[in-house]
Amino acid sequence: MSMKRILVTGGSGFLGSWLCEKLLDQGHEVVCVDNFFTGSKRNIYHLLDNPKFELIRHDVTQPLYVEVDQIYNLACPASPVHYQRDPIQTVKTCVHGAINMLGLAKRLKIPILQSSTSEVYGDPSVHPQVEEYWGNVNPVGIRSCYDEGKRCAETLFHAYRLQCNLAIKLVRIFNTYGPRMHPNDGRVVSNFILQALNNQDITIYGDGSQTRSFCYRDDLIEAMMRMMATPPDITGPINIGNPGEFTIRELAEMVIEMTGAKSRIIRQPLPADDPKQRRPDITKAKKTLNWEPKTPLREGLGHTIEYFRQLLHNDPDFCRR
Ligand code: NAD
Ligand code: UDP
Repeated sequence: MSMKRILVTGGSGFLGSWLCEKLLDQGHEVVCVDNFFTGSKRNIYHLLDNPKFELIRHDVTQPLYVEVDQIYNLACPASPVHYQRDPIQTVKTCVHGAINMLGLAKRLKIPILQSSTSEVYGDPSVHPQVEEYWGNVNPVGIRSCYDEGKRCAETLFHAYRLQCNLAIKLVRIFNTYGPRMHPNDGRVVSNFILQALNNQDITIYGDGSQTRSFCYRDDLIEAMMRMMATPPDITGPINIGNPGEFTIRELAEMVIEMTGAKSRIIRQPLPADDPKQRRPDITKAKKTLNWEPKTPLREGLGHTIEYFRQLLHNDPDFCRR
């Protein structure tokens, strides 16, 4: 594969930092752009000495002028707690960010991949979710800044394809977890693991019967890179995720068992518009990308628990909640 200069927006976040690392491993140059809204320099410290790695502090809601060969657009807070903190900024990041990055891709005539989300399906009535399903999203709820922002971004990508023949790649990512999730991320996997490692109560929202399908970080990044390598006529949207489906209560019980925690499971109110079920149909990804996830939940949780155990030991202040 020829060496390329590749822009990763949101490159200091959980998924972005792992993507930067994998691209550098393949011999590419990486330009990482981030405003550190949820990302952390600690995710990319180890890359800063690499002459092929460049970090730019920049907000994608502002235009960006760089010369690159490909763009992965990951900039956007992904955890409900964070994207709801500043909903206006979340919409701007999704929409203005997409316009700016698409403008850049158009000027340079290069492929651009958008990290879309299973949230475009909202609280789905079709299960498992296929790409043809249009979704069930509340346009004025607490999740809508993210859900509708990401839907509008997909629309923008599609429009640039239609009007400018841009090589777009839309991937719809389902819940992904793994080492480097921020300890205060607020997502269910990091919450439960840290609660368990601290022998605190495990907080299940609602009765815990809602389901999610959890994909390990390495599997997800592999699929993203395969998508970028597809010919220009492959645009997506394509679901990427792990079809193994678990209730939130099952996840809590697994984390308690694997950590040996003394934690109790307690119930807290279910946030508004929390999807009741979520599971990707990955038939398209299997066929188009010749990909399917390899890491079972128990194995991926093992790596993630170990990561947080070390982090709690080495940097307890960073983990204070
Ligand atoms: P993350 O919050 O760890 O990373 C997002 C990164 O984007 C952070 O480094 C943040 O500082 C940066 N960012 C946010 N707004 C920005 C802006 N305006 N300008 C520049 N940088 C900005 O989240 P993540 O889990 O790594 O998610 C990465 C991408 O994948 C997001 O686009 C998210 O919507 C998508 N996604 C993730 C999941 C998941 O389960 N992890 C699921 C679906 C979609
Ligand atoms: N959840 C929970 N306890 C927590 C955090 C989340 O029960 O401490 C639930 C949440 O209500 C949702 C599921 O776990 O039903 C997944 O939440 P997360 O924020 O990880 O992502 P989502 O898929 O909702 O975007």
